Amino acid sequence: MAETITSFVSRFMDRVETRNAGQTEFLQAIREVAGSVAPLVMDNQDYRDARVLDRLAEPDRALSFRVTWLDDQGVIQVNRGWRVQFNHVLGPYKGGLRFHPSVSESILKFLGFEQTLKNSLTGLPMGGAKGGSDFDPKGRSDAEVMRFCQSLMTELYRYVGMDTDIPAGDIGVGDREIGYLFGQFTRLTNSFEGVLTGKGQSFGGSAVREEATGYGAVYFLRNMLEQEDRDLEGLRIAISGAGNVALFAADKAVAEGARVVSVSDSGGVLASKDGLSCDQIKEIQEHKLRRRGRLSDLDMAGTRYIKGSKPWDLDCDIAMPCATQNELDAEAAKSLVKSGVMAVVEGANMPTTPDAIEVLRDAEVLFAPGKAANAGGVAVSAFERSQNVTGISWSREQVDCQLQQTMADIHETCVEHAEYSRQSGAHIDYLDGANIGGFVKVADAMLAHGLT
Ligand code: NDP
Repeated sequence: MAETITSFVSRFMDRVETRNAGQTEFLQAIREVAGSVAPLVMDNQDYRDARVLDRLAEPDRALSFRVTWLDDQGVIQVNRGWRVQFNHVLGPYKGGLRFHPSVSESILKFLGFEQTLKNSLTGLPMGGAKGGSDFDPKGRSDAEVMRFCQSLMTELYRYVGMDTDIPAGDIGVGDREIGYLFGQFTRLTNSFEGVLTGKGQSFGGSAVREEATGYGAVYFLRNMLEQEDRDLEGLRIAISGAGNVALFAADKAVAEGARVVSVSDSGGVLASKDGLSCDQIKEIQEHKLRRRGRLSDLDMAGTRYIKGSKPWDLDCDIAMPCATQNELDAEAAKSLVKSGVMAVVEGANMPTTPDAIEVLRDAEVLFAPGKAANAGGVAVSAFERSQNVTGISWSREQVDCQLQQTMADIHETCVEHAEYSRQSGAHIDYLDGANIGGFVKVADAMLAHGLT
């Protein structure tokens, strides 16, 4: 008797769980993709013979190292640093560095795995990686952050390089941290190469890199709406997060005629029934991204601050979770469905829990997974690398135009591959489309490379 998809996935997951016990985020990411690609793998004898799924679930390597540094009081601090080089069949490793106390091997493996499929979806030659540390930059002085970054790079520089592995930013790693990391790399290697992306524009950075993830997510949303003969004009968008991704998504959404009814940080939500103005968003960017302030300290006309809350019970047409993993659960999804949400677009990586995705699927709410919707950041990182290799800088318009084209291409890939989806609804299943579209290129390259 032919094996069912459920039993195929369950046998595969048993093997992965045995090797990665307790790594919940990593297992969650693998399970989600396995569910989407199982029908394809079961139908493809070459994929099965080559055991592509099992091989893809194992990172190329996961490096972990000690990071010691002196705080402003002269006390020695000890953190752990990691670089998970997940898969490089499509190109050099590429993926961000995250500084947050919650960082663990499980989180970085989930992010590295997602990054591998995301980078594949961009159509650009990049493998997947992720790294970072359990260091918390909050409340640390610039001098402490600099010493930490210098110490981390003193170990990391051995494993990265322009043709090997090119890190970028993520949670807790912005232009300040990238500058310090880059400075230490150039000092240690006596070279000036594009080993990091997200650099300042005066030393090799690209126009639009800072905005790229948020802008790209809104471009992806625009493509989804166009597919349904709709546009963004007047739509109410609830955004979570008040970092790089959230605040540039807010910026672009307002430019496209939408109303941004919230942003949030780890302290609570800043809600605006009529929508934040362009000037208000600029002020929030200045406050959060430059001054590293709290939303609770802002006093803005037409807004209210809701301490300890999330934005998912606000009335909205679109939800964009742009803060962190598993921030939108089943209860939140039910509340969004109740208020008539038409689409959920992930700016963050895996912010929607599996239960919440089921709620959204059952209600036929359009759902765009992060690996498709937030791929704009890594796409512009690849453009930054091209500019570093050729020594030619692109204009802002040129980068933005390429970004829009890349997001349109990713959208097209999702739509095309969603035809292989298990779901039989009226709507396009972007989750299956993205997972299958990203997987196929990686799997085919693995077959072509032989047993590696
Ligand atoms: P930032 O550090 O710039 O901002 C993160 C925001 O999310 C902050 O407002 C932060 O609040 C909030 N946040 C973080 N952790 C939590 C938590 N546990 N609970 C509640 N709020 C939280 O990060 P980014 O904007 O760069 O990244 C956000 C997400 O987007 C991540 O999932 C990241 O992996 C993903 N991403 C980022 C890309 C990029 O180019 N930067 C590219 C693709 C994906 P507070 O200010 O209080 O710390």
